Amino acid sequence: MKKNIFIDILSGKSKADIVYKDKYVTAFNDINPVTPVHILVIPNIYIKNLNYINNNHVILLGKMLLASSKIVYIKNIYKSGYRLVINCNKHSGQEIDYLHLHILGGCFLGKMINL
Ligand code: 5GP
Repeated sequence: MKKNIFIDILSGKSKADIVYKDKYVTAFNDINPVTPVHILVIPNIYIKNLNYINNNHVILLGKMLLASSKIVYIKNIYKSGYRLVINCNKHSGQEIDYLHLHILGGCFLGKMINL
């Protein structure tokens, strides 16, 4: 597999500001935050992106959400609000080929799309 920064962060080869870790997921501050709270939650096993999930990942995906709900509590943004984003492939701007969930908060985000 080609060099992947999130794999290196998981192995400890690259440094990251880890804010949460359990058996299933690891979460760390985004290096280039777009909001005051910008945290990435990744599974502890490699999944390229959402196109590669299957039934074996159901618990893991739930654990990513569960970890997010703990992190927003730790970061005290659970009341003010936040947004969870998962990018997939080119049109979303996915930059890193490793499934990751962005937690965005700490400021007013506005509506993403006027539905
Ligand atoms: P994507 O656009 O793929 O959904 O998001 C990738 C995110 O990873 C970006 O927000 C980017 O700032 C972040 N990122 C890229 N390289 C690093 C790094 O080396 N360390 C950390 N902590 N975040 C990174």
